[in-house]
Amino acid sequence: MSITPLMPVYPRCDVRPVRGENCHLISEDGRRFLDFASGIAVNLLGHSHPGLIGAIQRQAETLMHVSNLYGSPQGEKLAQRLVDLTFADTVFFTNSGAEAVECAIKTARAFHAHAGDDHKYELITFKNAFHGRTMATISASNQDKMHKGFHPLLQGFQYVDFDDLEGAKAAIGPNTAGFLVEPIQGEGGIREASPEFIKGLRALADEHGLLLLFDEVQCGVARTGKLYAYEHYGVAPDIMATAKGIGGGFPMGACLATEHAARGMGLGTHGSTYGGNPLAMAAGGAVLDVVADEAFLAEVTAKGERLRSRLEQFIGNYPDLFELVRGKGLMLGLKMKHESRPFVAHLRDNHGLLTVAAGDNTVRVIPPLVIDDTHIDEFMEKLSAGAADYGIEPVAS
Ligand SMILES: *Cc1c(COP(=O)(O)O)cnc(C)c1O
Repeated sequence: MSITPLMPVYPRCDVRPVRGENCHLISEDGRRFLDFASGIAVNLLGHSHPGLIGAIQRQAETLMHVSNLYGSPQGEKLAQRLVDLTFADTVFFTNSGAEAVECAIKTARAFHAHAGDDHKYELITFKNAFHGRTMATISASNQDKMHKGFHPLLQGFQYVDFDDLEGAKAAIGPNTAGFLVEPIQGEGGIREASPEFIKGLRALADEHGLLLLFDEVQCGVARTGKLYAYEHYGVAPDIMATAKGIGGGFPMGACLATEHAARGMGLGTHGSTYGGNPLAMAAGGAVLDVVADEAFLAEVTAKGERLRSRLEQFIGNYPDLFELVRGKGLMLGLKMKHESRPFVAHLRDNHGLLTVAAGDNTVRVIPPLVIDDTHIDEFMEKLSAGAADYGIEPVAS
């Protein structure tokens, strides 16, 4: 037998973390890494936050799982908090981002079917988007590398250039249900949609009776200095997927919707065995306790600005390596002149610094939101050292 017990779908590196201490990870062989990857924008509170650990421990001792056949005081409480904090009137809890996007897609289809418009099942989505790895969510993305071997895809997605309002408008047809977009593309390379684009999609949706769906799985939950990134744009979606940071490391997600948009999601239309389990609700509540706070959000913005201005200053020293810095809050991207993956590996293997590569030659800088200035200093030291001795690495172009 040559297949590994872990299905070999990931190109895993040889860092093997076994312990976390605040913003650092310690590997099996004792190496210590500064974690500016956060499990890909998940560990908002770092790795050993007493509030999060305590909430999970207490809930684990009290009640870990019950079926959604029963009433859920834990789910009602967290759903009410999300409703109070966002555009939404109702929440479906999931265990992952892809499931949250799945629920958003189903909610949009059911919205039109409810009015007898079963033919309005098509979502306009955007190139280089990432929405997850289920059949529906890979179908929602134009990225061929995720499709290979998995055809036939789910029908009902039309891909348009990101940030191209005219393209989105031209794609509207008799079967269109709405738009699905990441306000800030994560995997695509920390690419922000322009305000004109997001506002324009909202206006098009209103004009044509379509729904606006935001995938905030990566950019949501305080990452950009607002609880949700849509707040930067001054428009609200009808449906939104959230996950990653919302559990602070505990697997959970949610699909949020207005009452109007959720009109098709009646009894028996959707479900999940684990979705909204008490343990996840405790984790989500503990994360919100910390991040849904004006002072905390202002800190994220301030730290993001400090980090960004240092990055901008720094890249001036390496015009051959780096092109620009982009993003919002603590969702930053360092766009390189070459493929970013080898540089991310160099920082990791030779300087004990974890970042994440993304599309469009980008290094994602997505630290825990609880970093302080000492972490920013350590990050800049490691990054500078990494850029200074990167010449020894072969640079793929
Ligand atoms: C990570 C991600 C997903 C998928 O989340 P999973 O928890 O891996 O299923 C969906 N959308 C966006 C924008 C993401 O970044």
